[in-house]
Amino acid sequence: MKITDMFSNKTKTILSFEVFPPKKNSPIDSVYSKLEEICGLKPDFISVTYGAGGSGERSRTCEIASKIKNDFGVESVAHLTCVNSTKADIDARLVEFKEHGIENIFALRGDYIDGAEPQKNFIYASDLCAYIRTKGDFDLSGACYPEVHSEAADEVEDVLNLKKKVEAGAEHLISQLFFDNSLFYRFIERTKIAGINVPIEAGIMPVTNKNQIEQMVSMCGASLPAKFSKIMQKYGSKPEALRDAGIAYAVEQIVDLIANGVDGIHLYTMNNPYVARKITEAVSRLL
Ligand code: FAD
Repeated sequence: MKITDMFSNKTKTILSFEVFPPKKNSPIDSVYSKLEEICGLKPDFISVTYGAGGSGERSRTCEIASKIKNDFGVESVAHLTCVNSTKADIDARLVEFKEHGIENIFALRGDYIDGAEPQKNFIYASDLCAYIRTKGDFDLSGACYPEVHSEAADEVEDVLNLKKKVEAGAEHLISQLFFDNSLFYRFIERTKIAGINVPIEAGIMPVTNKNQIEQMVSMCGASLPAKFSKIMQKYGSKPEALRDAGIAYAVEQIVDLIANGVDGIHLYTMNNPYVARKITEAVSRLL
């Protein structure tokens, strides 16, 4: 099923998950039991990230997305980045997706790889969206940034660029993770002013260990509200307490987002069935 149809026919808030394929030196089936458990929670769809590594690692996105859809019965979305790819690379991926029955693509620019010369075929995710549009009937989604993408000059420029991505074919957006809902609500206002009318899901990352928070914040630059930092300070050296507090924080964010009419919640599961289950159980009656 196409994600756009899911949003058009929805009678409740959409709940989706994100998972990642194992690294190429781990066997691919090392994640299958976790994925089966995560799929058993019956989210509306699951998206599968696309690594920056070589083609072997990148094929894993398709393999995992296919497993989720064709064996575990949950609709899947395959992420695809373009900045380090030739047109032939992208064509090969699209053929692979088609062969596995994958209809939904999360079209991304991706990050530049240190020391590697970027390919010149696709400069922005909007270029990838426009290209895929000419290549068949895929449903396209794109990324958005409540706290503004790190390379954009300001929030106005960023939202106008986001509009170009929607005009190029992204029919649904998923946000970068954030810990302060008010930043997301301000971002939604900017998208409305800019005339962006596609569904926007809020990306929620349950922080369940201290390394994860430091790593994620340095990578995506999310700001940390004082309330959140206090929790990290208090429970930082108690792993189980920190995990419970991280789940509680994410649930509180989700409840507030649903009450404020968010189109969907996209949970970064980090391939952790326990955390995905706790959060799904806490919010499923509220969606
Ligand atoms: P773009 O939309 O191209 O934006 C990049 C920058 O260019 C922005 O500053 C934007 O304002 C500007 N811009 C965009 N279009 C134009 C234009 N037409 N003219 C001028 N400027 C423009 N990375 C991975 O490698 N694999 C993944 O699986 C992955 N999944 C992700 C999932 C989510 C939900 C999110 C939020 C991010 C994900 N990323 C992933 C990270 C992403 O690749 C990086 O954030 C990357 O830096 C930007 O990708 P983008 O598609 O948002 O880029």
